[in-house]
Amino acid sequence: MALVVRDAAVWDGDSSEVTPADVVCDGGRVVAVEAVRSVRPDTDDDVVEADGAVVVPGLVDGHVHLVWSAGPDPAGVVEADGEQLTVLRAAENARAHLQAGVTTVADLGSNWDVAIAVARAVELGHVVGPRVLAAGRTVAMTGGHDPFWVNACDGVDAVVRGVREQVFLGAGLIKTAATGGVYGRAEGEEVGASELTAEELAALAREAHRRGVKVAAHALGTEGIRDSVEAGIDVIEHGVFLTEEIAAAMAGRGTALCPTLAVYRSLAAGGGPDYATAKAVEVVRAHDNAVHLAMEAGVPIVAGTDAGSPGMPHPSLEDELAALHACGLPPLDVLKAATSRAADALGADVGRIRPGAPADLLVLDGDPFTDPVLAARPRTVVARQRLVRGG
Ligand SMILES: [Zn+2]
Repeated sequence: MALVVRDAAVWDGDSSEVTPADVVCDGGRVVAVEAVRSVRPDTDDDVVEADGAVVVPGLVDGHVHLVWSAGPDPAGVVEADGEQLTVLRAAENARAHLQAGVTTVADLGSNWDVAIAVARAVELGHVVGPRVLAAGRTVAMTGGHDPFWVNACDGVDAVVRGVREQVFLGAGLIKTAATGGVYGRAEGEEVGASELTAEELAALAREAHRRGVKVAAHALGTEGIRDSVEAGIDVIEHGVFLTEEIAAAMAGRGTALCPTLAVYRSLAAGGGPDYATAKAVEVVRAHDNAVHLAMEAGVPIVAGTDAGSPGMPHPSLEDELAALHACGLPPLDVLKAATSRAADALGADVGRIRPGAPADLLVLDGDPFTDPVLAARPRTVVARQRLVRGG
C-alpha cells in the first residue's frame, strides 16, 4: 500500500525553489516525485491532499536530551525518579517531538544509555517516536562536563575504549566534551576551560570514524573548539567563543556548528539553577558573534535545541529556528539547518525529499521561505510513511 501526497509545492531540502509535484511513498520510503496531479492512487492507497501547500522534509533536531524534563533542574529529576521512570519519560518525550514534525533527533547524552534503548524501541515499533541517533553516555573526562551521564575516560587508550563501548551498546554517534558548560556542576566547571586534551580528542574522533559514526563535541571555549576542529570532530556543539580563524578552518574541513542559541537565552533568563544564570549571560553576549563568524565563513549550521534542558520542552525547534533567523541566517539556510545540513553533519540519510529517502514529510501552512518558523508548525506529519498528525 502506497501513500501519495498530492498537489504539493515540494521543497526537497536543498533547492532554493519549490517544485509542484505529487510525492509517492512505498515501503516507508519516497519512491517517486512525479508531475503535479499526474498520479492516480489505487483505492487502498493513503492520500494526503496538500492543495498546493508547501511540503518539506521531516525536521531534524540536532541536539536533544530525551531523558530530561525541561524543568529548572532536569538532572535532579532523573536522579530522584530513577531509571525505570526515566525510560518512560524519554519515550513520551520522543512521541512529542514526532507529533510536531521532528522526525529525527540526535540525542547527545542520557543517563544509563537510555536514549540508545529508545532508538531501538522506535526501530522495533514498541514506541512511537522520531528516528533517534543516540550517543548514550558522553565520552568525557573524569570530573568534567556532563557528570550525570559520563562514560569517564582519561588518556588516549581510555577514550578509544569509551568509543568502542558506546558503539557496542548501539550508539549512532559519539558525544564528547572538550570544555566545561553552563548547566552541569555548580562548582569546578568553567565554560572556557578545556577538558579532554587535543590528543584525546584526536584519538576519539579517529576511533569513532573507524567505527563509522560521527562525533559531536560540546565546546564553548576557544581552545576546546580549536582542538576539536583539528581533531576532526564532525559537529561543534554551542561553539560560543569561536574566532574568525577557527571558523575558516571549520569551513575548510566541513565541520558543522550546532549553536543551540535558544537554550542559553532560557538559562540567562533564570530558567535553571542560580549558578547557571551568570554563566549563561556571558554566553549569550558572545553567541550571536559566533554564529555571524560561522555564517560569513560558510560553516554548515545545524539547528539543535538542547531540548529537555531548563526551559526547553520537547519539542523546542520552533524557538531555535526563530533564534537562528533573528541572528541573520536567511530563511532558506534556517530550513536547511533543520533538514539537509543537519542530516549531512550527523551522517543520517534523512532531511531530503527524493526517491530512496525515508518517507518523512510535513505539509505546512504558509510560506516558510518568508517565516522559517512555520516549518516547525506543520499541518500534517508523515513519518516513515505513517500519518502521525493531520491528514
Ligand atoms: Zn546538551
